[in-house]
Amino acid sequence: MAAGSRRRKNGGEEAAAMNRVKQDGGLWDSITKATFIVGSGVLLLAAFGNSLTWHLQRFWGASGDFWQTLWTKLYLQFQGHDSALFYLGTMLAPMLAFWGTNGLLLLVDVTGRPSFITRYRVQPDKNSPVDQGKLWHAIKQVVFNQVFVSGPMVMGIYHLTSWRGEPCSPQLPSFQRGLMELAVCVVVEELMFYYSHRLFHHPGLYKHFHKQHHEWTAPIGVVSIYAHPVEHVMSNMLPAVLGPLLLGSHLTTTSLWYCMALISTTVSHCGYHLPFLPSPEFHDFHHLKFTQCFGVLGVLDRLHRTDDKFRLTKQYERHTLLTGLTPLTESIPDQPKKLQ
Ligand SMILES: [Zn+2]
Ligand SMILES: [Zn+2]
Repeated sequence: MAAGSRRRKNGGEEAAAMNRVKQDGGLWDSITKATFIVGSGVLLLAAFGNSLTWHLQRFWGASGDFWQTLWTKLYLQFQGHDSALFYLGTMLAPMLAFWGTNGLLLLVDVTGRPSFITRYRVQPDKNSPVDQGKLWHAIKQVVFNQVFVSGPMVMGIYHLTSWRGEPCSPQLPSFQRGLMELAVCVVVEELMFYYSHRLFHHPGLYKHFHKQHHEWTAPIGVVSIYAHPVEHVMSNMLPAVLGPLLLGSHLTTTSLWYCMALISTTVSHCGYHLPFLPSPEFHDFHHLKFTQCFGVLGVLDRLHRTDDKFRLTKQYERHTLLTGLTPLTESIPDQPKKLQ
């Protein structure tokens, strides 16, 4: 008995060790791949850098003039009312992007049609149709968060950014500057969101704040900002607003970033893995299982091994850009249930 249990224990330890090696391999594998991709990029840039920059400048020179003219027109129309212009760009434009995207998704969620969209459901048996009482409750909280939390915060940020730089300057930032700032915003958001999100999963905080967002184990788009107001400030707003604030970004870059962040979180909550759109499998799995996949990009989850269970699932196999029309739940079906 004792020898048997020791063998089992040893076997368990071996399996755990193997698992650790596998996980280390996973991380090492990712680093090697990332180094290879970045290295190849640098080599290519070194080889064709001059002609690439020339073509980019030619392209941007032409379209850059177009955007500058558009911005100048808008700028002059507001005749120095910078705060109004700022509010339009950081509140109205992102809200239109959010409700435009979610309006379309809600039509599908509520009606369960058209079937050529609903066949792409990540959790095929859920929200078919969506519970209207639960949906209405979520929408009220979302509107509250946007009007009474995001609104005043954005106003405060205007004063902070004005002190930091000139967010509504008549001159648009260069293409390269805009691109660099967006990249910084993505990194800042990943860091801030991952750690604040994990903090909200601490039992002491979870039951008071984050439990509300997790009422939806099969999320839909609008649920992306269905959260307790405290969580909305700490985990949704701060990770997104901090990047532009630190960089002293131009209003146009900030506005574009907010729209991108809102559309991205909507897609990762929407519950449909549609062709040619980013995969929602990662965050959908977080809603399904609670203790995996805390980040946005997944880099920090790999580092902290909070995606180890996810990486063994069918959802992980489906976590890719769908480039065909066959739903991934059909091409990579769940394991058939064992016959009784
Ligand atoms: Zn979520
Ligand atoms: Zn969570």
